Amino acid sequence: MALFDIERARQETPGSQHILHLNNAGSSLMPQPVLEATVAHLQLEAQIGGYEAVERQQAVLEHAYDAAAALINCSRDEIAFMENATRAWDMAFYALPFKAGDRILTSMSEYASNYIAYLQVTQKTGAVVEAIPDDAYGQVSVEALRNMLDERVRLISITHVPTSGGLVNPIAEIGKVAREAGILYLVDACQSVGQMPIDVQKIGCDILSTTGRKYLRGPRGTGFLYIRRERIEQMEPVFLDLHSANWTSPESYEIRKDARRFETWETNYAGKIGLATAIDYAMDWGIDAIWRRIKDLSYNLRTQLSPIPGVIVRDRGVTQCGIVTFTVEGIEPEEIKQQLAKQQINVSVAVRNSTLLDMDARGLTTMVRASLHYYNTPEELTRFSSAIAQLADF
Ligand SMILES: *Cc1c(COP(=O)(O)O)cnc(C)c1O
Repeated sequence: MALFDIERARQETPGSQHILHLNNAGSSLMPQPVLEATVAHLQLEAQIGGYEAVERQQAVLEHAYDAAAALINCSRDEIAFMENATRAWDMAFYALPFKAGDRILTSMSEYASNYIAYLQVTQKTGAVVEAIPDDAYGQVSVEALRNMLDERVRLISITHVPTSGGLVNPIAEIGKVAREAGILYLVDACQSVGQMPIDVQKIGCDILSTTGRKYLRGPRGTGFLYIRRERIEQMEPVFLDLHSANWTSPESYEIRKDARRFETWETNYAGKIGLATAIDYAMDWGIDAIWRRIKDLSYNLRTQLSPIPGVIVRDRGVTQCGIVTFTVEGIEPEEIKQQLAKQQINVSVAVRNSTLLDMDARGLTTMVRASLHYYNTPEELTRFSSAIAQLADF
């Protein structure tokens, strides 16, 4: 941890001067360069016009594809920018042609928006969705997945890091199974991109979605989608427009051949530039260094919280990430959140219907979610743990 220039990280994170922010899984504090790049583009739009600003910033906007591609190890034509992770995920998922009897295999800790989409599509088509059981550590059981495979499985769709805990699912092992069986593989990497190394070649996924505002520290209302080259032309977007397709004659149109077939013409350009800046910024710190520090800090926090009487740390998995969840006997998580807010400490509350299968299986309804990032410090975590100890000791 000594090698990490934490002083610089905090100087470049204006919010960290006055708030103890442990809601990075909700929306991280933007670093100064991201804020500046985003605002500068809005100012340019105001000064010279929105279309003209795009023309002037063409190279910067195109760089966004190179930045995202470098981050997850793919090529630039496999990237589409979106307004959030859910739409990125949706655009891919709803492009898949399911029919009666098809099976979708997913994880127990699947995110609500994804599961709602499975329910909508399976109820319409007669396909079925099934959750792969967890292993003893709470991760997707790769063994169980193997046993569930048959010729009806059309999609394996997994959340890498759930919104509600430190769990990191074994997505590369799952990818190996998907590849061997020749089954399409979709990964929701919303909480993991920016937090830990993500390499789509190592994962072996066909589709991956993520957001800008969480561990990448980009602006809100941004996200991107990765689609493997060979899959792009097999996937017809549910919506098209004059950017995703070209109107070639009164009777015909041609859909773009790259991943941008999933984009829309109109977009938040300032946000896109902000996200590209955030990706460059993260890579400048080094994703390996970020991940090491997050793991150290989260281990530190769990170790401080566990001995507090009444506190139960709820995270599962072999490898645990920066999302720390816990309950405190006798106090509702919402009350804890409000009490902490009075001390300029931000946390969020994980609720049952965000990850319903998992919460029900564990008999939980709500938890406190303290999600840290590399710019947090051990001193902050000690202050946080003392605040929790005080609340627990009423
Ligand atoms: C936050 C989250 C999403 C949704 O991301 P948006 O950018 O809000 O659409 C999807 N999956 C997981 C696991 C998340 O935590």
